[in-house]
Amino acid sequence: MQPAIFECLYCAQQFHTEDSSLEHAIPQFMGGAYAPSQFMLENACRDCNNKLGLFVDASYAKSWFVTNGMTVAAGKLYRGLGDSPLPLVCIGKTAISGLVVPPDHVAEHWIGPSGETIVWVRYEDERTFWYSGGNPTDRKRKPSAAYLFLTSQDSTRWQMGIASFLDAFKSKKIRKILGTPVAGLASNSAWPGFDVADAQEISSVAAIRAALAAGTLLAKIRFNGKFDQRFIAKMSLAVGYSLFGEPYLATEHAHEARKGCWPSANNQSKLRGAASLVHQADPRFSQLMGYPGGVALCVTWVRSGYVLNVTIDEKLPFTVELAPSSLTSAWVDREGGYVLLLFPQLRKALELTLPELIAHSTGVAQNMELDKLDAIRSQASSFMGQLGPVQ
Ligand SMILES: [Zn+2]
Repeated sequence: MQPAIFECLYCAQQFHTEDSSLEHAIPQFMGGAYAPSQFMLENACRDCNNKLGLFVDASYAKSWFVTNGMTVAAGKLYRGLGDSPLPLVCIGKTAISGLVVPPDHVAEHWIGPSGETIVWVRYEDERTFWYSGGNPTDRKRKPSAAYLFLTSQDSTRWQMGIASFLDAFKSKKIRKILGTPVAGLASNSAWPGFDVADAQEISSVAAIRAALAAGTLLAKIRFNGKFDQRFIAKMSLAVGYSLFGEPYLATEHAHEARKGCWPSANNQSKLRGAASLVHQADPRFSQLMGYPGGVALCVTWVRSGYVLNVTIDEKLPFTVELAPSSLTSAWVDREGGYVLLLFPQLRKALELTLPELIAHSTGVAQNMELDKLDAIRSQASSFMGQLGPVQ
């Protein structure tokens, strides 16, 4: 029996089903793994999955704005050491006197949940110069070294810092060096999860400590203003297909969204929308279309068609055309729209309508599920409030 054929959502080429790979219409860093089943797609070829993952999803996910937005969002829902470790914040690339940085490598400055200093000396792929942490596939292939300097004597704070650091640098190829002396720890052993520093790493620790003491550890952000353009087109394509099914593929919207995934000088997408850095939204609009601590996808219907609005922690809004008015969806109600809230920190997602979301946010009518999330946010805020001093 011949294997069945499918058409790839992203490149429109035909493949045997055995060559398909599971595609999250909403990328995993946004909590897509917890999204409802209509967002789990099987019609993406492996090549598109890999290329779009590295050059489109990661371009957005690893941009300075989005990594830091996701970190702030996670912090609003963190209730203590039993929760998933908090992500780190990227400050940018740094130059430290006396720190050996091999050719084609950079030193990158990150900070932990209590202001811990982290310096990561890693390979730099110029093609992904604006990515916090560089090309994500290099962490498993190219050896690198990450140094952690704790700030606080408070045991909860330093355990949080260590948990976040070890979680952020999970790859075996990354040497993990604790730069803060720990009482009672022999110099030829290492804290669990860390490596014993060799001579060069000991001198790197000294160089970073000196820069910290002198206050000269500054960082520069390299920045690509178009970090989100292809991502917005890809999101429109994948969410459009997830919510409107096969008929969506025949629309002009799908055609233009596909073009936006693979742009070229003479083949620009005509999909209309507004990217995060040029979005003119009233802040109250981002609040109504978003949720604190979460990623929000809101689909609304206007006469000309359906529109998708995405926010992270009520910020970084982008808006994009989604589908023509002629289509109908099992999930999107024309009057009520469709909202998907994702909380990757809690491994949770929630579907509701826009009136339900707005009624809850404005205090008109409480939503029980959102009440639970509000309770988690208030626990998180009291946990942070009772922590010992940072230094
Ligand atoms: Zn493809």
